[in-house]
Amino acid sequence: MENMIKEHVRDIPDFPKPGIVFKDITPLLKDAEVLRKIVEAFAERYRAMKPHAIVGIESRGFLFGVPLAQALGIGFVPARKQGKLPYKTIGISYDLEYGQATIEMHVDAVNKGERVVVIDDLLATGGTAGAACALVQKCGGSVVECAFVVELGFLHGRDQLKRTPVYSLANYV
Ligand code: AMP
Repeated sequence: MENMIKEHVRDIPDFPKPGIVFKDITPLLKDAEVLRKIVEAFAERYRAMKPHAIVGIESRGFLFGVPLAQALGIGFVPARKQGKLPYKTIGISYDLEYGQATIEMHVDAVNKGERVVVIDDLLATGGTAGAACALVQKCGGSVVECAFVVELGFLHGRDQLKRTPVYSLANYV
């Protein structure tokens, strides 16, 4: 699994700005078999944990979160950038390398006592996923695990997520 993913992730140096090596997952999405295996790997892991919903982080978290929710027969909840969701929202702000960002969920998206899996394509510093977990907790829910296709282990994003378990299919240590 790990080798298969790494073979289908393309490194784009200096995107979106100098010094960043962007992990382009589009070759992986384009390959039906690879995409199917990734979704099935997550589904196998989370079937037994019986989460109430999958929370996907905008925007590439949606690409894996929706098919995973379908495979598990549960609902999907989008966590989006500020100002994108049309109904009443709650938000959490977090620090980026430069400045701040806010992610939001609809107030009724996760109910008290619900257990969810938070998913994104990639774990870098962990700021984004940490904010998504805080958002779920603010709603009274709990995060069973944070799931990623790719982890940039050398950035130690896991440490940022503290007590929330982290699972990734391919790690660049
Ligand atoms: P972070 O909050 O630092 O963990 O960043 C995670 C978010 O930024 C995810 O939604 C990723 O899709 C995106 N991201 C951060 N760094 C990269 C990278 N090197 N390549 C691709 N996406 C990235």
